[in-house]
Amino acid sequence: MQRADAAAPAGGSGGPGIKGTYVLDIEVCQELTVNVGRQGPHRFRRGHYYYVGSARAGIRARVQRHLGHRRRLFWHVDYLLAAAGVRVQTIWVGGLHPGECQVAHSLAAEVGLMEPVARFGAGDCGCPTHLFRVHSGTKRAAAMLAGLGLSACTPGMFAAGVQEDQEHTRDVDG
Ligand SMILES: [Zn+2]
Repeated sequence: MQRADAAAPAGGSGGPGIKGTYVLDIEVCQELTVNVGRQGPHRFRRGHYYYVGSARAGIRARVQRHLGHRRRLFWHVDYLLAAAGVRVQTIWVGGLHPGECQVAHSLAAEVGLMEPVARFGAGDCGCPTHLFRVHSGTKRAAAMLAGLGLSACTPGMFAAGVQEDQEHTRDVDG
């Protein structure tokens, strides 16, 4: 038994295996420029970024993809995650409500706390972006996500499954 299911947090609406909205707290350790597919270069400053996504097939599988070895870069955020000195620090996990676009709108409304990164990860909805740079004050930002009903998970909660994915070497996107 290698599965990490037993490590899922008990109770509450947030568990890594559920379907719904997630927010990646991404730490960029050094200033860098990332080529994001056809969008071209995006410049990232040092600090924390929040990326809002959703996974209908389950957050666990999606986050494992984001954290694991990628043979091709599919989502905008994968280009950022593939860069050196970039790591996911926390995965905030929620349910189907609020949806990813509602969470993105809530973050966008936090002027002074969140700075939007234009046209990122929002290709199939009307949002200006699903990626935000967190101004100093990550505690306030974290409290905000908790207030939206999301709960914090560590990357370690997804780690055992990443090993399994690599063994099977199957592309979940087909
Ligand atoms: Zn959206």
